[in-house]
Amino acid sequence: AELKTDVAKNVRNFADFPKKGILFRDIMPLIQNSKLLNELCHAIANHVKEDLGGAVDAVAGLEARGFLFGPSVAILLDVPFIPIRKLGKLPGKTIKATYVKEYGEDIVEIQADALQPGARVLIVDDLLATGGTMHAAIDLIEGAGGKVAEAFVLIELADLKGRDCLPQHVQLFSLISYA
Ligand code: IMP
Repeated sequence: AELKTDVAKNVRNFADFPKKGILFRDIMPLIQNSKLLNELCHAIANHVKEDLGGAVDAVAGLEARGFLFGPSVAILLDVPFIPIRKLGKLPGKTIKATYVKEYGEDIVEIQADALQPGARVLIVDDLLATGGTMHAAIDLIEGAGGKVAEAFVLIELADLKGRDCLPQHVQLFSLISYA
């Protein structure tokens, strides 16, 4: 509970970014607070160990802000970190997933050989809005032969009901929820 309060205090709000009418939640103060970030990453790792019914085999993070804490959690769990990136950034054979954004579509990719068959994967990102990005990430993990142990976000924008857009069989965990 105290951790949640501290994390919430280290998220800044920017009105009208990246465009008018959007309230942007910025986690950079949290990322730059080394003590708090350390505490947070340990809490996420402990949550994984205690609440997910067994170990995970990998942590997958979404570009770009999932890269800012996902690798630290992976180190604490002693498992590989797997990047999910925007189209065209990863070399070799990849698997792609398309999702709808406010204007047009976007594509994310994972390296096709990133996972062992049946690997249990924790997916992490900073924020869930409409859920399109997380849905695409889930499709990629499953497409690469893995199983999603949990979809984890620091912040959920509950009003947008992104949670309801995710596949039924996947559990979403959010540390902080904003109406
Ligand atoms: P969704 O696909 O609509 O759920 O959008 C989530 C994605 O957009 C995540 O990868 C977030 O990093 C990013 N995003 C959307 N809104 C915000 C925000 O207010 N702050 C930080 N990231 C955001």
